[in-house]
Amino acid sequence: MLPPLSPTTLLWIVPRGPQGMGMLTEKISSPDSASGPSADANGGIARGPSTTAVHAGEARLKPGFSITDPIFAASTYTFADTQAIVDFLEQKEPREEYGRYGNPGERVVERKLAALDGGEEGVLFSSGMAAFVGLLMAHVSAGDEIVFFDECYHRSREFCRRHLARFGVVTREVATGDYAAMESAIGPKTKFLISESPTNPHLSVVDVERFAAIGRRHGVLTLIDATLCTPYNLRPLDAGVDFVLHSATKYLGGHNDLLAGAAIGSAELLEPVRRLRGIMGGISSPHTAYFLERGLKTLALRMERHNANGLAMARFLEDHPRVERVFYPGLTSHPYHDVAARTMRGCGGLVTFLVRNASGAPADWRETADVVDAVRIPRIGPSLGGVESLIEQPLVMSYWNYTPDERAVFRIPDNMIRLACGIEDTDDLIADLAQAIESPGRRR
Ligand code: PLP
Repeated sequence: MLPPLSPTTLLWIVPRGPQGMGMLTEKISSPDSASGPSADANGGIARGPSTTAVHAGEARLKPGFSITDPIFAASTYTFADTQAIVDFLEQKEPREEYGRYGNPGERVVERKLAALDGGEEGVLFSSGMAAFVGLLMAHVSAGDEIVFFDECYHRSREFCRRHLARFGVVTREVATGDYAAMESAIGPKTKFLISESPTNPHLSVVDVERFAAIGRRHGVLTLIDATLCTPYNLRPLDAGVDFVLHSATKYLGGHNDLLAGAAIGSAELLEPVRRLRGIMGGISSPHTAYFLERGLKTLALRMERHNANGLAMARFLEDHPRVERVFYPGLTSHPYHDVAARTMRGCGGLVTFLVRNASGAPADWRETADVVDAVRIPRIGPSLGGVESLIEQPLVMSYWNYTPDERAVFRIPDNMIRLACGIEDTDDLIADLAQAIESPGRRR
């Protein structure tokens, strides 16, 4: 049996008195409202994204009167007596039962994420992909169809094309940003419209209002993978999208030290997702939830720096003679600049660019690798959104086993580099990229 979902008063076991003598069951104050940063939801006090990131979802007084939430390293939760079990089953007393269904730390993070994204609820998973798989498995059935914008994360599309197909679910892909094609791909069996925004590595930005309106017009659920924008830069639920999905492994965790994922939306739509997670077992551990809660507290601060570093780096690269092209929606040259400027607070730390060799021709894959190998501050590796900058050549990191024709379809040229700016000093990152581009080659 799953515990009740709504964030009401929590029941904690806390030490009695200053000496911690004896144990009693004591009610401690309700968690802060899980709704968005509006004045009404917070007793008349308006809350912006940073205040929300620091405080939302947490009880004001916690076990042991600690300012931080403890890590409840428990796989099971015990009952005082049989009546306590019955009260729990009859949803009279919200509490935990068994670790696969939930843990107190995970629920704090879920409320915080829901508040940040302006959703009713959040469901936390062990990774972004676990969240994606769990969400879709809870909502699609044999015969349903899914329509994707084609720049979505390739593993998400692979799950639908290869695995959901085995259960009779049909996946269609249309060109990213082609809303007419998306609308004409919708048929009577279409259940979901799915996109990412911005996309990776081309940083295409979806007009989330338009996307949500298409879904509403046809009675189809809409899902935006908002991993790259985070609720700091864009809140797709405010535009009417049904679900937001995050790989919390990236900006939300923010420190390259955890894997997690989340689905945010209405309580009604997330109820079957939470139920399925209780069966799948893809829940976030108490330790991971603690690190994620801690990381989330600095989300707004970190995003300000990621946004600033991304924009400054994109401008520097765009002016550099050894750079053929830069993909960054904060640049006026980017095809999605207008929609980004209209809908997003900032464009994040991810910058993609194409390099030239010394003769001014597009660099070949080895010459491009020489630029990657020459950087001294960003580490070479996949992922993004952490405090440490990361750099990679998509051809090598993600598309090595694809044919040149397939790479052309994915628009991954040999001279493409993806830089995920961390929160280091802007000038240091730019000076490092300048030296790497101007004198490429291995430094070891
Ligand atoms: N969504 C996007 C946009 C991603 O980039 C990724 C991972 O790279 C995922 C989802 C999957 O997240 P995770 O690695 O946490 O499973």
